Amino acid sequence: MGKVYLVGAGPGDPELLTVKAARLLEHATVVLHDSLVSREVLALIPANAEIVDVGKRAGQKLLTQDEINSLLVSYANHHEVVIRLKGGDPTLFGRAGEEIEALRAANVPFEIVPGITAALGAASAARISLTDRRAASQLVITTYSRGEHVANADPFAVTPSLNWAAISSNTTLVLYMPGADYSEVSRRLLAAGQPEDLPCVIVSNATRPNQQIRHTTVAGLAAESKLPAPALLIVGRVSATRLNDLVHVGAQHAGPHLGKVETPRPKPQ
Ligand code: SAH
Repeated sequence: MGKVYLVGAGPGDPELLTVKAARLLEHATVVLHDSLVSREVLALIPANAEIVDVGKRAGQKLLTQDEINSLLVSYANHHEVVIRLKGGDPTLFGRAGEEIEALRAANVPFEIVPGITAALGAASAARISLTDRRAASQLVITTYSRGEHVANADPFAVTPSLNWAAISSNTTLVLYMPGADYSEVSRRLLAAGQPEDLPCVIVSNATRPNQQIRHTTVAGLAAESKLPAPALLIVGRVSATRLNDLVHVGAQHAGPHLGKVETPRPKPQ
């Protein structure tokens, strides 16, 4: 019986791999990766290693999570070291939970090697301090539910709904998987009481050669054209490019005290 490593591949730039991830990849004999792992990171896998793209579409259908779980267990029966390589950090919107459960159930030894999650890659790409103390005292990393319509369901989405009560004017919100329709995102943020002029930034392909960064506002988001995936959205005063916005936009909204936590807002319809 071998051991399975759930390894974070980081946001894309191979220099942002941990030393441990890079060392494990160097000695890998089998690597199962998803579609988020960058080409540059995949290039570090030795030529003689077996590479399984579990994010690849077979015909119309992605491998199911159960199929991936079974693959991990069966590879562990035949290899010393099995690497399950996931974009960013394996435990954030990465379905690590199901894999951990399957490995536990099959008594397969495993270890988690953390990675730099996309939120951190994107924030550094946009040169933003996510908890700039003049504008944010908490950070919420979340995504929308895409589960209502099973046919269109995002294979990664897990959150039933945003907990809007947790979003104060001193919150930085990082929205993974914002989807194709930014006007829907804008609508939802406005419906949840976010100010129209609240700064936000879209970061596409953070830390990769094709990185794109677009600054806008919650209202302005509606008119933005879609940036290539993977992309995420950072919403909050910390994403302001002018100090004045950073200090004042949310503050007006929150009332006189910058540190004030607002009462819960109504949920979007
Ligand atoms: N486990 C990953 C997240 C998986 S969910 C992590 O920790 O980063 C997939 C979402 O992550 C994408 O839809 C996108 O919103 C975000 N993402 C991943 N890599 C990204 C990148 N390089 N730039 C921008 N967003 C990225």
